[in-house]
Amino acid sequence: MLIAVDFDGTIVEHEYPQIGEERPFATEVLKMLIAERHKVVLWTMREGQLLDDAVKWCAERGVEFYAVNSEYPAQFMEAKPDHLSCKLNADVFIDDRNVGGLPDWPTIYKIITRGKNWKQMIRAEVMSEYEEEEPPYPKWMFWKTKKK
Ligand SMILES: [Mg+2]
Repeated sequence: MLIAVDFDGTIVEHEYPQIGEERPFATEVLKMLIAERHKVVLWTMREGQLLDDAVKWCAERGVEFYAVNSEYPAQFMEAKPDHLSCKLNADVFIDDRNVGGLPDWPTIYKIITRGKNWKQMIRAEVMSEYEEEEPPYPKWMFWKTKKK
């Protein structure tokens, strides 16, 4: 899976042009996704020295991106066809400007690796809370209550 990930506000707290504190578990999750053979691309508005600083910050924490601001590694960029648009052809975008906000990084990992969407994750979370409490249905609706 090609995964595009933003930097400011996503991997780190938004302190642009400085580099903010790491968001909890961001680099751990990214390393796990890379180890699982996902192509993780840094997709950021940063450029020049500020971009280099972000790439270096990630590399120092063991996060080596497949590509930076591109869906191709740098060595393939010369062979890039001219007709490609600037929109990245990623399977998933991780960005603090997502509609609905950015989930925490452990949830991002679950969404990607379990192939679930946000709605399904919320439903699963709500249902697990129900399972810990009394069944939400009267006992005579035995087919709706969980067997223990
Ligand atoms: Mg951002």
